Amino acid sequence: MKKNKAVPNAQKSGTEKVSVATKAKARVVHETDVLLIGGGIMSATLGTWLQELEPDWSITMVEQMESVAEESSNGWNNAGTGHSALMELNYTPQKADGSVSIEKAIDINEAFQISRQFWAHQVTRGVLTQPKSFINTVPHMSFVWGDDNVNFLRARYRALQKSPLFNGMRYSEDHEQIKQWAPLVMEGRDPQQKIAATRTEAGTDVNYGEITRQMINALKKHDRFTLQLNTVVRRFHRNADNSWNVTVSDANNSHAKRTIKGQVYLYRCRRCGAEIDAADQNSAGERVRGLPGGGPIPGV
Ligand SMILES: Cc1cc2nc3c(=O)[nH]c(=O)nc-3n(C[C@H](O)[C@H](O)[C@H](O)COP(=O)(O)OP(=O)(O)OC[C@H]3O[C@@H](n4cnc5c(N)ncnc54)[C@H](O)[C@@H]3O)c2cc1C
Repeated sequence: MKKNKAVPNAQKSGTEKVSVATKAKARVVHETDVLLIGGGIMSATLGTWLQELEPDWSITMVEQMESVAEESSNGWNNAGTGHSALMELNYTPQKADGSVSIEKAIDINEAFQISRQFWAHQVTRGVLTQPKSFINTVPHMSFVWGDDNVNFLRARYRALQKSPLFNGMRYSEDHEQIKQWAPLVMEGRDPQQKIAATRTEAGTDVNYGEITRQMINALKKHDRFTLQLNTVVRRFHRNADNSWNVTVSDANNSHAKRTIKGQVYLYRCRRCGAEIDAADQNSAGERVRGLPGGGPIPGV
């Protein structure tokens, strides 16, 4: 955290704590150093990081559903691809001169290696267990047809060979070879059609829901972590000391409101983003520390 840093409760003197409590509205029932909004992989990851780096901080996670990892991070709600640009053609745009740019592909691949290191580290800490329950090897393939697309894939493959991150990628325009790689894709296909494919054996399939559940289960073992399920974030109010009062309610009763007072938070709901921006307009302080909802998992 940089300038204008709000001081975590854990680091405050007794007098300061009393002062904060006195100023807080009667409805404030819960104070926390960090408020994580949403029980998906983003909150689970940040919570795990913070718990390890700042074990004295109190962390509260609120989730509107009955359990965590029910939305985008659930294994049934996303493709489970460990994005490392082995097969995602959009990470390698073609330039006007026909050459292929690989900078973004390298960034994405490196970020995914960092994610893997983070997960491996959490296995050594006992936060994550049984790696096969959340990460497995699966070949990643790209398949194209038509002259322009074949030329693009060939240029892409050649360009990626300049980076060791893409060692092991294979390229073919041969129908028989591609049939071995992807028999169903080739079934009934015109043998004269111009096609091409790349294949990397070391692709990755990730169960982000399982990672989320395991991380949050590990967080629950710590005294300073609180999980509030069936709890919806409704409103935000910025306090003079740069902390936030966040109004929440029961998921099935919007009148059952209470306030969580937090110093720093991560929000993962689209509606919350607009609410926070509105609440922040009157503040001369630094921008809120949050991430907008949606988008690919950072580092993945
Ligand atoms: C169809 C699809 C396929 C995808 N495929 C891939 C893929 O192959 N690889 C990849 O890396 N990424 C993929 N993604 C993206 C990835 O799933 C998401 O980026 C990631 O799961 C987001 O995690 P999150 O924690 O931000 O969100 P979520 O897992 O959605 O968690 C947000 C949580 O916030 C809760 N919430 C929302 N509003 C409130 C509120 N007001 N109060 C309290 N709680 C609230 C929600 O109930 C939810 O549990 C895919 C996404 C989709 C939709």
